[in-house]
Formats: sequence, C-alpha cells, structure tokens
Amino acid sequence: MRQKIVAGNWKMNNDLKESLKLISEVANMVTDEVSNDAVVIVSAPFTNIYALDQWKTGSSAVDKIKLAGQNCCWEESGAYTGEVSAKMLKSIGADYVILGHSERRQYFAESNSQLAKKVDLALKHELIPIFCVGETLQEREQGIHFDVIKSQLKEGLYHLIKSVFKTVVIAYEPVWAIGTGLTATPEQAQEVHAYIRQLIAEGYDEETAESVSILYGGSCNPSNAASLFSQKDIDGGLIGGASLKSRDFTDIIKTFNS
Ligand code: PEP
Repeated sequence: MRQKIVAGNWKMNNDLKESLKLISEVANMVTDEVSNDAVVIVSAPFTNIYALDQWKTGSSAVDKIKLAGQNCCWEESGAYTGEVSAKMLKSIGADYVILGHSERRQYFAESNSQLAKKVDLALKHELIPIFCVGETLQEREQGIHFDVIKSQLKEGLYHLIKSVFKTVVIAYEPVWAIGTGLTATPEQAQEVHAYIRQLIAEGYDEETAESVSILYGGSCNPSNAASLFSQKDIDGGLIGGASLKSRDFTDIIKTFNS
C-alpha cells in the first residue's frame, strides 16, 4: 500500500505568530476530525520551522504533523550567503523538503542537475525529498509535456539506487495550475501520474513504481480533492493556497476518511 500524503506548502506566507496559530488550528482539526492514516506535512518558511517543531513536541499532534522545508542548498556548507543546508533543516525538526518547486525553477533558475545535488544532500541528512515536476502551459500546448517531465525525473532522480529511490515522494504540479485557480482535470492528472509510474517501472521496476507516492499539486481545494485523489495513481496532494486556511486544508485531508 502506498502512503497517502497531504502536504501544505505555505510558501512565503505567515510570520511566526501566524504560523503558530495556523498549525494549532490544523492540529486541533486533524486530531478531532481526521480518521485516516494519511501523512500530513506542513512546509513552512525556514524561519518558523524550529518554533513549529517545539510547539508540536508539546502538543498531542506531535506524531500527526510532519514538517518540511521548501528548499535546501545544493552544497553541504560554506560561503553561500542566504542559503540553508539540508543538515540545518534536519536539525530544527524537518523530516521532508520540497525540491524543484516550479517557483524555485522559475525565479531562482534551479536546474535539474543542481536539483540532483540537493536530492543527494537531503537524503544524506535523512530528509525525504518531495520532488516536483511539471510542465508550463506553453509546453503542454506544444505537446511536449511528457518529454519535459521525463527529463526532470531522469536528471533529478534517476541517479539514485532503487532502495533509495523508493523513499522519495514525487509531486506532479502542472505550472499552469499553480495558484491560478485552473486545476488539471482528474483525467489529465491521472494520465501524467500513470506516465510517471510507467517511467519509474522502466527505469527501475514495477515494484518500485508501485511503491512511490505521487502527489498532485495545482489549485487543489476541498471541492476538487476527492475526484483527484480517487484516481488510481494519485496518492494525495501538494497544496498551496488552500493550505493557508485550516478549514480547507483539513477538509482536503479528510477526503481520505472512509
Ligand atoms: C504549490 O505551490 O505547490 C501549489 C500547488 O499551489 P496552489 O495549490 O496554490 O496552486
């Protein structure tokens, strides 16, 4: 059975006080209302992760919510002003790190080869990468979206040996659906998720392909989560805007309640 996962990407939102308020609301709702065993992840700005971890440790939500960074450096340490390393993230309570988000690729020119280095450092420091792939609108219109996704996966992840590859989480996030209110239809999303799983089967094997969780991201909300998550190859979501509202985020997680 693949792990069901709902990860909230807060992006550059929420100062410390707002972060603590939001996580406590989410924790209360998750504790009271969620009856499934989906892994719930909150990916907060670097500055707030330590406080969130401290808060979590003293609450009943300690095991219910995992923390993630939104990026980490491609180098272990050194003269990289403004960067945060995988080791640092691990030391403040993160268990996951989002890598290759389209906003990082677009605004910070992150390349697949740089991302491959980040993946290695994350894994070295026991952070599970949530590795994002996805095409722009132009690439979809040109009909090259499958090729784009193939390159992102191959160049970013395929250097991993099978046992390590199995531990990684993949997020398919069509760039045209992120923060736009446009969602991929369940059929469009399923088509790409099945393609990614097929690529993994070809690069590794069937068993590996069947064990990796693949999340959908792109304007996912409480109204469309159920139809997306019911698709055979969609194992949950990476949620941006809707993760900033405790009610919406919890309702998305509850989609997995039986
Ligand atoms: C994201 O940024 O990963 C994302 C999916 O954002 P949104 O849900 O707001 O489209």
